[in-house]
Amino acid sequence: MGEFELIARYFEPLSRGRPSSYLVLGPGDDCAIQRVDPGAELVFSVDTLVAGVHFPASYDPENLGWRSLAVAASDLAAMGADPVCFTLALTLPDIDEAWLTGFARGLSRAADRFGLLLAGGDTTRGPLTLSLQVHGTVPSGTAIRRSGACPGDLVCVSGTLGDAGEALRWLDVNHPGPDEAFVLARYHRPQPRLELGRALRGYASAAIDISDGLLADLGHILDASGVGARLELEQVPLSDALMRLAGESAAMRAVVAGDDYELCVTMAPETWQILPQACRNQLTVVGRITEESGLRLFSHGAELHQAARGYDHFGATE
Ligand SMILES: [Mg+2]
Repeated sequence: MGEFELIARYFEPLSRGRPSSYLVLGPGDDCAIQRVDPGAELVFSVDTLVAGVHFPASYDPENLGWRSLAVAASDLAAMGADPVCFTLALTLPDIDEAWLTGFARGLSRAADRFGLLLAGGDTTRGPLTLSLQVHGTVPSGTAIRRSGACPGDLVCVSGTLGDAGEALRWLDVNHPGPDEAFVLARYHRPQPRLELGRALRGYASAAIDISDGLLADLGHILDASGVGARLELEQVPLSDALMRLAGESAAMRAVVAGDDYELCVTMAPETWQILPQACRNQLTVVGRITEESGLRLFSHGAELHQAARGYDHFGATE
């Protein structure tokens, strides 16, 4: 099978029959064409995943298809962007039709769910590598950046944290119980918070998606904004499944675990009061932005120092 046949069979269905007024021209020409409304800005980001580095070479292809687009789309969610389209550069060691079928299925389901059309791509031969570029738009000037956090702002997170990180301990389990199955689904099928991100435009002062763990990712907001924060460990939202699986260490694990693709956002307390209830229901306040730099972690009012925070299982960056 040649490159053109491969694209026609596996990837063209991801754009065919899915009309979009924003993707003017999809795959098949030298470039794709995206319409950007007057008064809108294009928001885009690229992610590369290398087999053996970012995922095991034997990783299930359908999960890989879903996960690779979900991870890329999560960056659009963090900016508050409306998703439009994506491109895929795929490097394959050989043409394995079973692998391609599974990968295209996972990718297609994710594309449908997230409202992203395939705009084009490229295939080459070499070690298995995926590059996905995602495109979204925002009304000009409304993208939520990392740099807007102010002293006094609340620090909020969406969903529950630590589930996907916990899943790493259960990846090899053949017959997972309900709790293990729950955290495994959180790892294999992340759900980027696209709707929440969009709804937070005009409310959040800063946002980031949690890919490397709350401590690390909130740290990026603090660096970009030139502020610090205090986090209250007991306020970190935890799933029942994680609490049963991880017991007393659940909260500490949750703040260092990556791969959840939830959002961490900051906003002024007075903004929180007027935030639409639907958004507030998806967020939990876990701390405050401080003028003093550095990220301080508290548990029931007592500060946890470096030594007490040191026992992470997932390689925290602190
Ligand atoms: Mg990100």
